[in-house]
Amino acid sequence: MISHGIPSLDNLINELSRLPGIGRKTAQRLAIFILKAESEFADNLANAIIRIKSETRLCAQCFNLSEHELCSICSDSRRDPKKICVVEDIVDIMAIEGSNEYRGLYHVLGGVISPLAGIKSTDLRIQELAARVKKNETDEVLLALNPSTEGEATMIYISRLLKDKDVRVTRIASGVPIGSHLEFVDQATIGRAIQSRQEV
Ligand code: ZN
Repeated sequence: MISHGIPSLDNLINELSRLPGIGRKTAQRLAIFILKAESEFADNLANAIIRIKSETRLCAQCFNLSEHELCSICSDSRRDPKKICVVEDIVDIMAIEGSNEYRGLYHVLGGVISPLAGIKSTDLRIQELAARVKKNETDEVLLALNPSTEGEATMIYISRLLKDKDVRVTRIASGVPIGSHLEFVDQATIGRAIQSRQEV
């Protein structure tokens, strides 16, 4: 590790280099940029980081990011409350919303079942999903997990769990390449995958 002999600079470089996709060189460039910028910029950046941690929480219903008890999607009366799209992570909601093809609600599982990583069904919000389906008389559960082996296994698990619940269980079409993450798939592809979803 290169030290600049300036602990405050080294400290900022170390913290920035922990961000995803930021290598040591980029962290150094960012730190120098912040150092040279107006104080106001550094203050605003620091405040924005503090605010995102203190002012956001998870939606009580779907576990999306929210600044209130219910997120902006759950509290939007123009959306169809009888449809629930199941995703792994909050970034997947952002990807699907970008496609403008879906007008129902969401449910964030918080991962997928993965024996290798020690993640069991009880570690995910699957029971919460089953309870929502029952309580809200949901008519469709659209499974939109990333098409990995674990994603497939989780979709099978959920569809079996909901089998006797009188709800249509669908999954996004296979247009999304195996092994890819929804986050990185273009919006048109996600839109098509939602349009041509199939019954499980
Ligand atoms: Zn919500």
